[in-house]
Amino acid sequence: SNTRKPIIAGNWKMHKTVFEATDFVKELLTFDVTKDVELVVCPTFTSLESVSALLKDSSVNLGAQNVHFESQGAFTGEISPGMLKTIGVDYCIIGHSERRQYFQETDELVNKKVKSVLETGMYPIMCVGETLTERENGDTEKVCKTQTVEGLKGLTAEEIQKVVIAYEPVWAIGTGKSATKEDANETIGYIRSVVEQLAGAEVASVIRIQYGGSVKPENIAEYMSMEHIDGALVGGASLTVKSFLDLTKF
Ligand code: PEP
Repeated sequence: SNTRKPIIAGNWKMHKTVFEATDFVKELLTFDVTKDVELVVCPTFTSLESVSALLKDSSVNLGAQNVHFESQGAFTGEISPGMLKTIGVDYCIIGHSERRQYFQETDELVNKKVKSVLETGMYPIMCVGETLTERENGDTEKVCKTQTVEGLKGLTAEEIQKVVIAYEPVWAIGTGKSATKEDANETIGYIRSVVEQLAGAEVASVIRIQYGGSVKPENIAEYMSMEHIDGALVGGASLTVKSFLDLTKF
């Protein structure tokens, strides 16, 4: 019972060539996609431009999986927010746990990227979440608070409102283990209270917070039935058109 529009984002990670990506989107667009749920596909960089052209007149939005915070310069191998915005990218996933874990992304870096993406007129999907050890130590809330506060540092309430937060317990990503709907809802409610401390009750009531971690068509309805859960960031189950579309049926 809230007015937040659910957002289901498919994180394709390092999957799909440009041919596979465009085939996916062509097939997706043959279906009548519901307007009650916002759909976002997040292909690799090499597919963004081709996918963007196909999505142009559709209601499906486009996300990148990463971005650099500088607008240009001597940063070999990196891609700037402006380069993404120019080809029609709407969202950038920032601080995914795989980037934190394998590419040493810190809260400070996440914060720089979030700011830069907002300044460029795109929307960040900022990922937060505890590891298994942190959960077992009872540090779930502490970790989520730190990542949320540090990631949103220096932003105005108006800017914070534009951020989508993805709560992704690291132990549930790609493992087939998922948080219970109660646990996910409780932690997301807690993250919402952290946003309230930062940006006030109004922003906390409209900011969208997704759950991520082994979401699939079989469990999406459970999560979506919970007060604080506004959608999902989905890896594995976003890779086929059928499964991705079934995620909107809850
Ligand atoms: C993810 O990549 O953000 C994710 C949640 O992956 P999976 O759905 O495969 O667990």
